[in-house]
Amino acid sequence: MSKDNIPKDYDHKKETSWQEIWQKNDIHKFIGDENRPNYIIDTPPPYPTGSIHMGHVLNWLYMDIIARFNRMKGFDVLFPQGWDCHGLPTEVKVEETHHIKKSDVPREEFRKMCIDLTRDNIKMMKSQMQQLGFSQDWSREYVTMTDEYMQKTQLSFLKLYDQGMIYQGIHPVNWCPRCETAIAFAEVEYSENETYLNYLEFPAEDGKKGVMIATTRPELLSACVAVVVHPEDERYHDLAGKEVEVPIFGRKVKIIKDKEVDPEFGTGAVMICTFGDKTDVSWVNRYNLDIIEAIDEKGTMTKAAGRYEGLPLSVCKERTIEDLENEGILIKKEKVDQNVGQCWRCKTPIEILVKKQWFVAVKEMIDDVVGAAENMNWVPEHMKTRLLNWTGSMDWDWCISRQRIFATPIPVWYCSKCGKVHLPSTKDLPVDPARDTFKGECECGNKEFMGEVDVLDTWMDSSISPLVIAGWPYNGYNNLFPSNIRQQGHDIIRTWAFYTILRCKALTGIAPFNEVVVNGMVFGDDGHKMSKSRGNVITPEDVIEDYGADALRLWASNSVPGSDVPFEWKDVKYGYKFLRKFWNAFRFINIHISEFQVEGSSDTIIKTLKPLDKWILSKLNHVNEIVTSSLDLYQFADAVSHIQQFIWHDFCDEYIESVKYRLYTDSPDMLNSKIAAQYTLKTVILTTLKLLAPITPHFVDEVYQHVNTDEDILSIHSTSWPKFDPELINKEAEDVGNTGVHIIGEIRRFKSTSKMPLNANIKAVNIYTTNNELYEKIQILVDDIKGTMRISQLNVEMGNPDVQEIVVEVSPQMAKIGPEFKKEAPKIVQYLQSTPPQEIATQLEQKGFINIGDCKITPNHITTKKEVVGKTGEKVEIQQIEDLNVVLEIVV
Ligand SMILES: [Zn+2]
Ligand SMILES: [Zn+2]
Repeated sequence: MSKDNIPKDYDHKKETSWQEIWQKNDIHKFIGDENRPNYIIDTPPPYPTGSIHMGHVLNWLYMDIIARFNRMKGFDVLFPQGWDCHGLPTEVKVEETHHIKKSDVPREEFRKMCIDLTRDNIKMMKSQMQQLGFSQDWSREYVTMTDEYMQKTQLSFLKLYDQGMIYQGIHPVNWCPRCETAIAFAEVEYSENETYLNYLEFPAEDGKKGVMIATTRPELLSACVAVVVHPEDERYHDLAGKEVEVPIFGRKVKIIKDKEVDPEFGTGAVMICTFGDKTDVSWVNRYNLDIIEAIDEKGTMTKAAGRYEGLPLSVCKERTIEDLENEGILIKKEKVDQNVGQCWRCKTPIEILVKKQWFVAVKEMIDDVVGAAENMNWVPEHMKTRLLNWTGSMDWDWCISRQRIFATPIPVWYCSKCGKVHLPSTKDLPVDPARDTFKGECECGNKEFMGEVDVLDTWMDSSISPLVIAGWPYNGYNNLFPSNIRQQGHDIIRTWAFYTILRCKALTGIAPFNEVVVNGMVFGDDGHKMSKSRGNVITPEDVIEDYGADALRLWASNSVPGSDVPFEWKDVKYGYKFLRKFWNAFRFINIHISEFQVEGSSDTIIKTLKPLDKWILSKLNHVNEIVTSSLDLYQFADAVSHIQQFIWHDFCDEYIESVKYRLYTDSPDMLNSKIAAQYTLKTVILTTLKLLAPITPHFVDEVYQHVNTDEDILSIHSTSWPKFDPELINKEAEDVGNTGVHIIGEIRRFKSTSKMPLNANIKAVNIYTTNNELYEKIQILVDDIKGTMRISQLNVEMGNPDVQEIVVEVSPQMAKIGPEFKKEAPKIVQYLQSTPPQEIATQLEQKGFINIGDCKITPNHITTKKEVVGKTGEKVEIQQIEDLNVVLEIVV
């Protein structure tokens, strides 16, 4: 790599070549030897949709910064990448692409189509991740649909089954009629919408006035098993123990009193249906009520729904309301807001059906999960509360069976005769009971078995990720378990975080990670969640093409864990500009440091450092301290803003400008000063590149190849994190330097407002102050102020400038002189032009007029131009630096 021919502009298209160099040279590889401490990141396995979105960018950038930072700090970092393959979206995509229904082809063939699609999608996403510069160790990739992974998922099932933590039971479950599968509570999302509250008359058994109930779900009338009122509701005192008739269906149901009824809602009387919602389930259990299954798996009304049999739920609802209206049962309708549970994948309203399913006994593990979560460090802390609130609200076990195809099979067979559950031997895993036959004999003597056709919830795959990346269940896995850190989005706390803690605790007794860093979501530049329908989606490729991955990374890193982040083009552009500014500074510096060697001479050089060298080095160490501690605490925005501020303003705008005069000189007297400047420039550039390395990995390597002198080092990412040197923190030097920068800035502003080129010479500047301490400080800075601002003569003096205002030009006001003095006017003009202006001014000041012949001239007849002159009589400009007690007297 050549030190010459550095391109004029930074070319972000070179990012790709660095990605190739890193991959080819295994820069990010986890070694796993005993020479360095480990740092394990439990990374999320994304769903292979085929494209990375901005949310992924934010999520993975945090991990990548953490990984790169810890590598440079000396850790052997394990940054693996997994893929959570199974699930409904892939099945749906396969059905769409091949124009089939999953039942049109054999199960195996359908699975294969899903696998092929997933493999293609993984390939695309992997390449996108590499384009963003993410530094995963790809030799540690895991894919949940492989035999190797499914074996582990099934093994974890068998272990928990043996521990009594997994059981099969008939329970009400959340059901998505569109996906035609049970789903877990954690997968139910709630959304607000408006519906009608219908008031229906339920006649009493004797045909007299019964009770009026209010319901939002009249379509469930056929599954009504009781009416419930509050025990203290006086309106219903006399109804205790009586029965009422369900309209349309004529069935008699009991009136029950229960405290859970809200007397304020509707009429205070509610119908219990099996099942309208979660409360219905607890009432049915509490009062041992019948269960009427009026809805089937597809959301169609069953035989139990009588005249509505075969209708979809929504149609049944419309018809029921029509019938109730026609029969005079519907008394009134009023609009209400309701909170509807819906499937998190397809947003279809869920139903509660009674099904035989497999469950994980969550309730038994709640204390363990809470204990483990309490001992972890959560960033931000309030995300822990989210998890704890969720565990506190848990009253149903985790339903883990799904009625789908593309997932890990449940490793269970049933005896065809007595129904007993039989499990495979662990050495036969993975198995697919839907395809494989069970070899063995039941205790009842039967040798025929039926394989389970249900499959596992995909969270059963992904919730063992910290174990899988550690090599579980094989020997030695506990060297890499638990993980140091789990990084994930806040949208999957009640699923992925909760399930992982639960399962790893149940399987090993150990909490799966020590720290959890939670990222927010990304919004579009219109402040709304990015979505195709809003048209506010911006893809990472859109940005990388024009601005490069590092500019995108600068945008994403300027954020705080837990907070949602808007995507802003202006932030990307600011990052892009920053990198170019830094590149230009580096090109300049490179000319001056390319032949410079620090080795062996740094101690001597340190003794010759000039005030502004000490100033920038002290500031550099401050920034190092702040960036290091911010990254340690995952405060990415703090780290990136401090480093940018330092490079852009302190280093590029101030320091580099102030050392140019020292670099360009050939004077032997200034040789030490020149070396000190070169040393400082080199130190600052090497350190800042390292501090930026986790954030803009491509850019820093592109620069580093030109400044690096060690040919064995291929990439800055293989070097160590810069040491914070408290010795170089120098409060006094910072103070002096700040004063210098302040004064130089003021003179620079003077040049620009007077339209002088920045490199123009200034004849002389006198700096006045009435403060002794400041006087001493400025004395130290004389060379730098002179050199930087090209001032021929600079004096520092105690006191105030001795200046006066003099009139340098007097011009006749012809518009007045002409009409008033007519013929005499030329005489007056001649006098005014031939007399020294200050003399005219003094006379006018003393007498108020001048007589020229018979003409009386007053200040009204002339205009004057004044100038400020110093004690030498030369024209000067006065600049007051208010907050510094300094006055500048500038002689141009
Ligand atoms: Zn669904
Ligand atoms: Zn049997």
